[in-house]
Amino acid sequence: MKFGFDIDDTLINLREHAFHLYGRKLGREVAIERFRECATISVHELFGLSAEEGRRMWQELQGEIYYTACPPFPDAVEVLHELVRRGHEVYYITARTPEHCERTRAWLIAAGFPVAEGRFYCGMGDTEKIHVIRELGLDYYFDDKPAVLNTLGDLDLQVYAKDNGYNRHLDIPRIGSWRELLDLLKE
Ligand SMILES: [Mg+2]
Repeated sequence: MKFGFDIDDTLINLREHAFHLYGRKLGREVAIERFRECATISVHELFGLSAEEGRRMWQELQGEIYYTACPPFPDAVEVLHELVRRGHEVYYITARTPEHCERTRAWLIAAGFPVAEGRFYCGMGDTEKIHVIRELGLDYYFDDKPAVLNTLGDLDLQVYAKDNGYNRHLDIPRIGSWRELLDLLKE
């Protein structure tokens, strides 16, 4: 079968990584509990930044956010390897902007993810992911972002939300931890 995955906040804990980098940069400590309760994708509000200040902070720290030690979610790397071992195809579909594609692919490999030739898609907008997903004929697709998930309702595949506070209003199947994926395949 063919499995497609978004990267940021689906396979890797990018938002929390960014939260820590913002705190360090601003020299301001915000309790992790407040981060966990935060129901917006962006984290700048937690530091009292305006949307414009938040945008600038993201731009300034983007290289660090993307390419330092952002941790994969527990079991993500292992479970994707297990899929490959069982003969499945693993695809990555990320809306990171085109100038980040090559480096992101290299980062994924360095982080231990199985990235086969021709199975890394990058640089499309959130609402363009649907075209890639349809053309690949995926059987499963996983993403965290409502702006993406909301476009996929009419496709004939299994779509799952990677569970997060900002997507709980969506009435679609969800996955909390990556171990659950192997359980899904038993059903
Ligand atoms: Mg994402």
